[in-house]
Order: sequence, then structure tokens, then C-alpha cells
Amino acid sequence: MIMEDTIAAIATPPGEGGIGIIRISGENAKKILDTVFAPANSTIVENRKMSYGTIVDPFSQKVIDEVLSVYMKGPKTYTVEDVVEINCHGGMVPLRRTLELVLKHGARMAEPGEFTKRAFLNGRLDLSQAEAVIDVIKAKTDKTFDVALNQLEGIFSKKIKEIRKLLVDVLVNITVNIDYPDEDIEEITYDKLEQDLSLVRKAVAGLIKSADTGRILQEGLNVAIIGKPNVGKSSLMNNLLNEARAIVTEIPGTTRDTIEEHLSIKGIPVRLTDTAGIRETDDLIEKMGIEKSKESFNHADLVIFIMDSSRELSQEDLEIIEHLEQQKAIVVLNKIDLKQVVFCEQIAEMLPKAVIIETSMEKQQGIDLIEDKIVDMVYGGKVSQSDSVMVTNVRHKNLLMSAEKSVDDAIEMTKKKEALEFIEIDVNSSYEALGEIIGETVQDDIINEVFARFCLGK
Ligand code: GDP
Ligand code: ZN
Repeated sequence: MIMEDTIAAIATPPGEGGIGIIRISGENAKKILDTVFAPANSTIVENRKMSYGTIVDPFSQKVIDEVLSVYMKGPKTYTVEDVVEINCHGGMVPLRRTLELVLKHGARMAEPGEFTKRAFLNGRLDLSQAEAVIDVIKAKTDKTFDVALNQLEGIFSKKIKEIRKLLVDVLVNITVNIDYPDEDIEEITYDKLEQDLSLVRKAVAGLIKSADTGRILQEGLNVAIIGKPNVGKSSLMNNLLNEARAIVTEIPGTTRDTIEEHLSIKGIPVRLTDTAGIRETDDLIEKMGIEKSKESFNHADLVIFIMDSSRELSQEDLEIIEHLEQQKAIVVLNKIDLKQVVFCEQIAEMLPKAVIIETSMEKQQGIDLIEDKIVDMVYGGKVSQSDSVMVTNVRHKNLLMSAEKSVDDAIEMTKKKEALEFIEIDVNSSYEALGEIIGETVQDDIINEVFARFCLGK
């Protein structure tokens, strides 16, 4: 399906740089290049060979820029169409002028994501792969990038296709039995159906489970640092950030408001909030900080609760301990370089399920232990690092959940030995929901929505 019109856009980000690239795709790409580009050393532009020359306005003969151009004949290109890339000087003026000239001579301005959309419409990428292109571009950490790249390479799609294949077998089985009913094999049919559908259910559930890890990898893990004033919250934050951004002082209560920072811990994007101490106070400003800290406490995926191990536990510490959700908490006993009066064992008695780590922010001890623990908690110690398929996309997750629901319904009916025609309906819905993920049974408006997330020139 080659599109009628030829599209063009600036493919590099705005601003100044070494080079800036104009990308053209479509039937007229080569013709346009021949019109605006004068190669320096030859008269023809060869397929897939970079050539040096100038962009010249054919009417005024004015030289617009000195460039390198390449023409790539389809179908083995990004869009499957003929593609041209012009490497201009990386400034807004040469790029804008060259683009204007290209648009004047037969291209129209591309919409955001339109190059990738063409790759999808021309069948080179399926929808989930096309979506991965944007995730690859927007990845903020190595780990997010790897997951997106896996998806782009089609590992996720392959998994979906495998599950759909199972469903096709089920559908065939059902159809045969509807068309040629046979009392003797009926029993076997229901048993086999239940087995097959349970397999599908398990596979779909596995992908849904990966979605939470996926969400964290994409949106970042929400970590709240809580504790009384002066225990070392800001120091921990600084140590994790490795730069003194939060204020560290000896006067209790200087972290008045919450401070949010974004960082990457071993490839996991983390949103870190340093909160004012949770304690009763008359100071209004500090009170606001405390309200906020209770809020971030509740919204956090993970809470790091710090205590000063050189001071006896206070009422406030005990209060926090009481409210702590142990499974998602790391308890830090800080200042072990001083004379320690609070020990692990004592805390472990009150919080048997929590992870407890001793640190000295002053001597920078134990910080790596905290980092390792965060990583452990995200992956639950089970998810393998490199080849796991993760659902990072809300659209995918919703479709997986609806596929799971239909399979569940089908399994229920199979158990009750209800009419195969009814079971078929649910198996079909599940099949279609999975198809929507890879774009096989998807509507135009959804496709448009997907590509609207893209940047210009991609
Ligand atoms: P926050 O109020 O909880 O954010 O605590 P800060 O990080 O601002 O630290 C309060 C004070 O305790 C500062 O003077 C820090 O230098 C000091 N401090 C933090 N961690 C340690 C530690 O491990 N050992 C010692 N001796 N002092 C520390
Ligand atoms: Zn602080």
C-alpha cells in the first residue's frame, strides 16, 4: 500500500547542532532531490550512496546550503517507500529554507509520527512495534531502552501471536464440533477446551503481571524518604543523587516542603521525594510540609524510613513504625558512625517483614545496599533482566485484561458444558483483543491516537 503523496519533515530536534536532517518519503522523493540538489562531483545521485553537493533554489539559482544527501530506493527503507535524507548544517535557517524548498517542489509537511505510521501501514512494523519506536526514543534509562528495543524487534508481538495461534486451534476445534457433532467425542472436546483455554489464560496473565514492572520502568518508581527531622533524609537523597541539591543542615526541620528528584538507580527510573519529618508541629509552614509528606507516604511505591541510631526511639518513630506497610518499606538505621543505641534486632522485632539496613551517610556506608534492595524489590528477585517481555503500554494492558476476561468466561462455560456456540463468542473476543495489540483488528481512530504521540519527523 504505497501512499499517494510524498511527505517531508525536519527529523532532528530543534536548536543548533553539527548537522540537521530533512527526511522525505514517498513516490516523489527522488524527483524532489533531483530538483533541489546539485551534486558536486557527478550529475547523478546513486541509490544508497551519500553524495556531497549543494541545495540550490532552481528558480533563483541561489545556494541555500552545503549538504550531504542520500537516496534510498524502497522497499527496504524505514517507510518501505523511497526515502531521501538531506544532511544540512544544523541550524534553524538552513533547515527551514531547505524544507521550504522541498515542500514547494512536491512534498507536503509530514504529521507527527507519519513516517512510522507509513512503516506500519506498509506492513513493515506491526502496531506494538511502531509504538515501541516512540518508547525507544523517549527512554530515560538503559533498562527502559532495552525493554522498548525488545518490543521494537518484535519479541512482544511474537508472544502475542503465539497466544493467538493457541486460540485459533481452539476455534478450529469448536467449529469442527459444531459442524460435525458427535456424541462420543463431546466429552473429550470439553476437556481439551478447558486445557487449552487454561494455557491461554496462563500466558495472558503472565503478560499482565509484567505490566506493573513495566509501568515502573516507564513512569519511574515512586520512592518517599520519611523520618523525623535531622535523621539524615536529605543526606541520603544527596548521596543517591550524588550532588548537593537538597539542603543539609543541623537545625531540625529545614526540609520544609517536599523535594522531588528524578534519578536512575541501576537502570530503574526513580522519583525520589524527601519529605519534612512526620511529627506534630505548630509551625504552619512545616505543617504543610508534613501534610505533603503523609501524602507522598501514601502514594509511594516504596518508602524509605530513616531513623537516627544514635538516639533512643521516640514516640514519633514508634508512630511511624506502627503505620508502616512493611512489604514496601526499607528501614534505615543511620549514623552508625556515632555511638549506636538502636539496633537492627530491636527493629526487626517490631517489623519482622521489613528490610532493615544500617548506614552512615557521613561515611557513605550502606548506600549501595539501599540501591540493591530497591532493585530487588522492583524485580521481586525473579524477573530476568535481559529477555523478559514486559508490558509497558497501558493500551496493551487494557487489551490483555479484556482478553483475559473473555477467556475466563469461556473457561467457566466450558466447565458447565454450555453450548459451544456461546463459548466460541468469548474465544473470539479474546482473539480480537489480542489482535488489537499488534494492530490486526484495530480501528483507524486508535491508530491515529497511537501516532499522535510521536514527534515530528519520526
Ligand atoms: P534530615 O533533616 O532528615 O533531612 O537530615 P539531614 O540529612 O539534613 O542531616 C541532619 C544532620 O545530620 C546533618 O548535620 C548531617 O550532616 C548529619 N548526618 C546525616 N547523616 C549522618 C551520619 O550518618 N552520621 C553523622 N555523624 N551525621 C550525619
Ligand atoms: Zn532534610
